[in-house]
Amino acid sequence: MSTNFLRLLGAYVVMGILFALTARAAEAPKVASFSTALNWVTKSREYQAVCLQTYANAWDKVAAAAKKQKGPWTIVMDLDETVLDNSGYQRRLEASGQGHTQEAWEVWVAERKAGLVPGAKEFIAKVRKLPNGRIIFISNRYARNTDHSRANVNQLGLGDKSDIYLLRKDRKDRKNLRRAEVLQGKGRIKSHGAQKVLAWFGDAAHDFPDDSKLKWGTHKFMLPNPVYGDW
Ligand SMILES: [Mg+2]
Repeated sequence: MSTNFLRLLGAYVVMGILFALTARAAEAPKVASFSTALNWVTKSREYQAVCLQTYANAWDKVAAAAKKQKGPWTIVMDLDETVLDNSGYQRRLEASGQGHTQEAWEVWVAERKAGLVPGAKEFIAKVRKLPNGRIIFISNRYARNTDHSRANVNQLGLGDKSDIYLLRKDRKDRKNLRRAEVLQGKGRIKSHGAQKVLAWFGDAAHDFPDDSKLKWGTHKFMLPNPVYGDW
């Protein structure tokens, strides 16, 4: 065989491979691919199980502690990734290749499309049936979005008129300041007086008081959030 013939054959083979690859790429469905962390939250049975396990344990502990109370008591819950599931927002960011911004976040909050963290609704419904209880939501959503947040919670069937929303006034209004208001009955909680808090719920370390008397799984309940955090 001549060298020219072999060259020509080689060129046809390469062209054939390129054509096949191009055709295949064109056929590939246009599905956004998401991070492992987000897939774990949206698709895995493990994420569901950890959330259900946490809320099942919390119910046992809160019900037992509430039984011993003679007067009013409270549980304090974070909102995002503790009660409200914002994986829709995360999917939006990842699909568009955009990072998180306060502006994009507030657009999402105003849409009131957050879903439910597994187990949260059932847990809250049972807590509502206990006498003398109240739920305080301490969230770093801004206070200007309280109506959107309350509406989202209500449309998921979680809300009650007695709930207190302690959202962030401004950047300096950190959660430890709002926790102090709850425990000491001052500031925004003044008219309600100091609260007896039986349990704290969150998905981040900053959702919990720094108090060695409070134990994980008894007074403090952490929900899993592998998608974002201050790590
Ligand atoms: Mg949170």
